[in-house]
Amino acid sequence: MKVLKFGGTSVGSAERIRHVADLVAPRGKNIIVLSAMSGTTNSLVEIADYLYKRNLNGAKETINILESKYLKTLATLYDRHESREMALREIKSCFNYIRSFASRDVFTPVEEKIILAQGEIMSVAMMTILLNERGYHAEALPALDFMKTGENGEPDSNAIALNLRALLDKYAEADIYITQGFICRNHRGEVDNLQRGGSDYSASLIGAAVEAEEIEIWTDIDGMHNNDPRYVEGTRPVHELHYEEAAELAYFGAKILHPTCVLPAKVNNIPLRLLNTMEPEAPGTLIYNSITGPSIKAVAAKDNVTAVKIKSSRMLLAYGFLNKVFETFEKYRTPIDMIATSEVGVSLTVDSARFLPEIIDELKQFGTVTVDRDMVIIAVVGNLEWTSPGLETRALKALHDIPVRMISYGGSDFNISFLIRACDKVAALNRLSSTLF
Ligand code: ADP
Ligand code: ASP
Ligand code: MG
Repeated sequence: MKVLKFGGTSVGSAERIRHVADLVAPRGKNIIVLSAMSGTTNSLVEIADYLYKRNLNGAKETINILESKYLKTLATLYDRHESREMALREIKSCFNYIRSFASRDVFTPVEEKIILAQGEIMSVAMMTILLNERGYHAEALPALDFMKTGENGEPDSNAIALNLRALLDKYAEADIYITQGFICRNHRGEVDNLQRGGSDYSASLIGAAVEAEEIEIWTDIDGMHNNDPRYVEGTRPVHELHYEEAAELAYFGAKILHPTCVLPAKVNNIPLRLLNTMEPEAPGTLIYNSITGPSIKAVAAKDNVTAVKIKSSRMLLAYGFLNKVFETFEKYRTPIDMIATSEVGVSLTVDSARFLPEIIDELKQFGTVTVDRDMVIIAVVGNLEWTSPGLETRALKALHDIPVRMISYGGSDFNISFLIRACDKVAALNRLSSTLF
């Protein structure tokens, strides 16, 4: 059994949904994970935002616009009148449910999560009806019945596997299973989600739960490219990556893959394949447990990074200084990405600036603190074992005329990171492409 996940653009119109049905139907008894149609989750976030602000007209107007998009989709999605009527009932009931929140007195994060879940719920309803119309026994497996997170907010893999296997047993005669990405229930039983872009994570968790033969992430591009195609022209797909390389790229900004998605596949040694819905024959990218010879494979950029420098003469020949610095970040549950140390100071980066004022305040006990905002981490990824000389020099050479605030190499065999100003990002990505590939 395989898990096939289709992102928002892949199900973004009636034509695209029909195309996905053409793709999945002949592939057999697999689990299909769907995102909301592109733009839907953003609109649902906007609706929730209006409801928080008690702007009921704003909410209703946005609900109406989104609903008309769905009704237009249904008009050409089905061949049979009965299928369209059935889908209309499902979609209208979702929109009426969303509307019902406008007449309540309070609006809380719990209601917001319920609203955000409707996009994936509608995709699954539309696809299941379409496959059934085509004569397949498609069974919708409600993610809210099996995808669980624990008290720590992390997915509860044991519960997910138990729940999902029970559902698969219950519907053993089905030809194909369809489920929602992104959505889950938290430990209180409330509707929740795996964060924006989290359908990739759903696919990977489901793959691990059923010990899938492969997890396929179908999207709008033919695999992981060697640089960010949104900023660099002429990028090319990388056909094979090790799990670690893919994880580094995803973490450092390669949007094609949600950063959390690699781990469940890696732990269970399940190959992950990135494929293009618009070009299904293209080989895409295979991510698995195999390392190819020393090479630089791809470059990615992580935005919205802040650098913090703590300078202190007390660090000289002292121990325990770094510990105090790290404890401060830990106290505010703020992860650190890059670190550079010297005799008299340490620089580090964070991508969550939420508790930065408190952190800076506390760090001032230990030294002089300076902060650089609007920075970007450029990650150069590949098999970069330190015993293979010259790889880091090539990357550095490409950035010879760009001011580099920090460099990190040696934390893993797979990554050299450079911290630069956001305004230099596009130039840096392009220089790296022309020098390295
Ligand atoms: P989906 O909606 O299918 O989840 P996403 O928009 O999340 O799709 O991811 C696909 C997009 O990721 C591509 O359209 C591309 O613009 C962007 N992207 C960023 N970096 C890369 C990269 N290195 N390789 C491929 N795509 C990338
Ligand atoms: N629909 C969700 C989002 O837009 C989840 C996903 O597409 O992966 O974030
Ligand atoms: Mg995505």
